[in-house]
This record gives sequence, C-alpha cells and structure tokens, in this order.
Amino acid sequence: MSFDRTLARCSFCGRRPPEVRRMIAGPGAAYICEACLQTCNEILQDPRPFSPKALELASRPPVVVAAPLEPPASSQEEQPAPREALRTLTLELEQKQQDMTLMLYQIQFYAHYFDLHYLWIRPPLTPGFAFVPRLIFFLKDNLGQQWSGDQGGMLLARPELASDPNHAVYQGRARFRPLPSPEAHRLTIRAADPLGQFEDPPPRPWQFEITL
Ligand SMILES: [Zn+2]
Repeated sequence: MSFDRTLARCSFCGRRPPEVRRMIAGPGAAYICEACLQTCNEILQDPRPFSPKALELASRPPVVVAAPLEPPASSQEEQPAPREALRTLTLELEQKQQDMTLMLYQIQFYAHYFDLHYLWIRPPLTPGFAFVPRLIFFLKDNLGQQWSGDQGGMLLARPELASDPNHAVYQGRARFRPLPSPEAHRLTIRAADPLGQFEDPPPRPWQFEITL
C-alpha cells in the first residue's frame, strides 16, 4: 500500500511532525515518535510485569494511521473522538487473592461520571464460556456517598499483556455516576467476582482505599 509520508503520525500517540522532534518510520504506515520511544524504554526498565506506563500505553485509543485524505463524513460520525478526561488519577494498587490479581490503575473523571480502570489477572476462562466475566464494584466515600454497578462498563481480554500461559489478562472499566462531591477525599473501593461464589471457599471481596 502506498502511503504519503507527509501524513506520518505516531502510531502510539497520534502526534505529527512538527509536534514531535523525531519520528521513526516502521513498516507501512507505522511510526513511533521520540516521546513514545522514551516511554517504551522506561517500560523496558520497569521490572514489574504490568507497569503503569505499559498500561497507559496499551489503553490509548487506537491511532488511525492510514486515514484517507478526505474521509467521508459518515465514517467520521461513526468514530467520534474519544472524550478527554477532565482529570486522571493514577493508581498503583494491586492485590492478590487465591489465583487472581486485581490491579486498579486509573480513575478518570469526566463531567458527569467517573471511570475506574482495572486489570483482572486470572486463570483463563474456558473457550465457549457462556458468560461475560465481570467484577461487581461497591464504592463509598468518606462522606457516606455510595456507588454500585458499572453502567457503561466493559471488559476486554488482553492476551498480548499476559506473560504467563496460566493466566489471562482482562482489562476492564467500570463507570459510576454522579461524581463524588468536591469535599470527598477518601474512597473505599470493594470488588467481588460473582462467579467466585461457586468456589470453595468463596474468595473475599477485594478492598482498596484511595485518596481522591
Ligand atoms: Zn508518539
């Protein structure tokens, strides 16, 4: 496929020259800018299997690298730009329980809701598994406001993040509304695996304390 290299944009962050000083071309329309290379280097230096930077990189919205010069209006409407979070709180919380790990890595605040981003590392669900695996969350702040459910939540299998064949990585997002009050400064997050109730013994809910 021919590609106009003046349209080059970093496949990891979407920036184009002259927003980036150096851009390295890969095959086809793939590019990486010096800032993203720097991030990759930092990920390589981090001994943890799931560093916050690796997660941030893997969670970015995909960059359209080979968009036609003038895309038809309809295709633009189908893919609205992802909304920018008003505030992002980076977490580095991880708890193991039996054969599972729950990592909370980010809370993003929007105008009317907030999203909790997590990774759920667990034995792979068997092929043909009939349910969408999910976690149930219960949140409470220090003023007593409570949230449950995760409207608009999602869970994606991320096999490329797994470094161990006995574990699968599920990347999830739970959405809560309304926003916590500006005076709230502590948030307790509890999470439970509904399917775990069938295990013997059933796992206890995870519990995390967060400073807002
Ligand atoms: Zn970049």
